[in-house]
Amino acid sequence: MKKHNFSAGPCVLPQEVLKKASEAVVELDGIGLSLIEISHRSTEFVAIMESARALALELLGLEGKGYQALFLQGGASLEFLMVAYNLLENKAGYINTGTWSDKAIKEAKYFGDIIEVASSKDKNFKYIPKNYEVPGDLDYLHLTSNNTIFGTQVKALPVTDIPLVCDMSSDIFSRQIDFSMFDLIYAGAQKNMGPAGTTLVVVKEDILGKVSRQIPSMLDYQVHISKDSMFNTPSVFAVYTSMLTLQWLKDMGGISTIEEINEKKASLIYSEIDLNPLFTGFAEKEDRSAMNATFTLTDERLKETFDTMCKAAGINGINGHRSVGGYRASMYNALSLESVGVLVDIMSDLERNA
Ligand SMILES: *Cc1c(COP(=O)(O)O)cnc(C)c1O
Repeated sequence: MKKHNFSAGPCVLPQEVLKKASEAVVELDGIGLSLIEISHRSTEFVAIMESARALALELLGLEGKGYQALFLQGGASLEFLMVAYNLLENKAGYINTGTWSDKAIKEAKYFGDIIEVASSKDKNFKYIPKNYEVPGDLDYLHLTSNNTIFGTQVKALPVTDIPLVCDMSSDIFSRQIDFSMFDLIYAGAQKNMGPAGTTLVVVKEDILGKVSRQIPSMLDYQVHISKDSMFNTPSVFAVYTSMLTLQWLKDMGGISTIEEINEKKASLIYSEIDLNPLFTGFAEKEDRSAMNATFTLTDERLKETFDTMCKAAGINGINGHRSVGGYRASMYNALSLESVGVLVDIMSDLERNA
């Protein structure tokens, strides 16, 4: 039985994408060779890379606006330092909204002064800071749009002329934003796009080339741009699978269509959390994430029963992160509304039988 996969990452991908990707491992599009045994310089793979890059820009509405899309390696975690390597000359600002922002700050500190412009650490990151002043002398301001672990999501962007950099690992392609507000966006593939092994970086070309330090080739966005995202052998399987997911998203109508479905999923689970006395939400209501719903049982004695019911229904991956506890239901693009319905039914059954 196919399980309902609420895992936080790596996580659920569309069934048809998994099927097509697995077929390509045996033979790519009838060419008599596997996707993972052809040269990355072959016409077939060059076309896949180009199509993945173009689809990313198209879905984000950034075609022809001076942006480049790159499929790099090293995960979002390498971007924590690549961003600073390429953009930080003197001082940068970070909004600290949890574990991932914390890690981004730690790496950036190797390259210059880092100011925590705002932080929600005082309440274990259960909210998104608002109405903060952005200093005018920053090289860039860094945000994490969705906080995968704490289940909070930035709803309103800061108004500033400072270049904006965003870690969108866990909510890219899930909701409509004016993506042109950002100068650099990065996202590990393994939450809304594909398998682990590649990281999407979307960068506005004119912010590059301004730092005085020398940048090693593999860490230099300009090198990757000049080589069409193939400076070295890319992670071919991860890029191909990401391309299929982006095509799947485009075919269904793009981000606006998936956003409607994501809103339905989120309101289904959050209304259950709010109505059911056995559950409490972790994040502040106004900052709740549509991707990761974090919640706890009000009576820990029900844990075993609830876990058993979930397991019997084929629900996978809802244990909360150790820094929050309780449960986390991750509802990325490929998770169906039906799967959320199954979880919500169990939550209400638990109340009925308690
Ligand atoms: C998962 C995640 C990361 C880490 O990504 P890696 O690709 O494992 O380095 C960074 N930021 C956010 C917001 C995440 O959800």
